Amino acid sequence: MRSRFEARPRGEGRGFGALSILRCWLGAAPPRHAAAAPDRTASEIENLSHFLKKQETLQRLAREFGYDASKVTLSPQTRTFDYLGQSFTSEGQSFPDGRIEIYYDPQMTDARLGCCLAHELQHVRYFVVRDAYCAEPTDGPLHRRFAKYAPEALGAQRGVSNYSNEHWDAWKGDAPPKLFSMELEMGKSEPINETIAEVAKALYNWGPDVRINPLWRELHDAINEEYAALRSA
Ligand SMILES: [Zn+2]
Repeated sequence: MRSRFEARPRGEGRGFGALSILRCWLGAAPPRHAAAAPDRTASEIENLSHFLKKQETLQRLAREFGYDASKVTLSPQTRTFDYLGQSFTSEGQSFPDGRIEIYYDPQMTDARLGCCLAHELQHVRYFVVRDAYCAEPTDGPLHRRFAKYAPEALGAQRGVSNYSNEHWDAWKGDAPPKLFSMELEMGKSEPINETIAEVAKALYNWGPDVRINPLWRELHDAINEEYAALRSA
């Protein structure tokens, strides 16, 4: 892993493994930057040259991903949430309208920033395809294309990383989650949506030769193909 990391300088390297993957999105508790700069207001952070530099990097990364950079913002806010009785810091969030917020952390490397953006962007693509899927009749082309990814088939695979497996573990629904369903409302976690976002992160981090579950890889690719088709329609 180490040598692969060195061969791919943009990657997070060893970060795509055990505990550190959690940090890529959840941060560690307690938030390190809160301890480093307890009294800074949001507007003070926004004027830090380091913040401005990271903001520029984020904009450049968004353009590299072919995404509208005006929809991607670096936020000086700290977002925390409770999960399994612990408080975590969120590193990014995507919204169904296509906006993406990444939460500023002075410790965040450019590689981690890219990983985070790759993950969040995949959520945005998922939302777009999900909307189209839900809007068409049940015998529509998207329903036909994605029919093979039945709840049992996906549930049997579980996730592709610790982070996505935590979402599988946290699933509270009576039955396995269904592709393009409102997972959060139905089961209090988003195993499918998060697993696909983790595939995108792994591909960004390690490149196209990464060894990853083939069914999830195929589903990830199918979603991105449909996203591109919907965008160009
Ligand atoms: Zn996510």
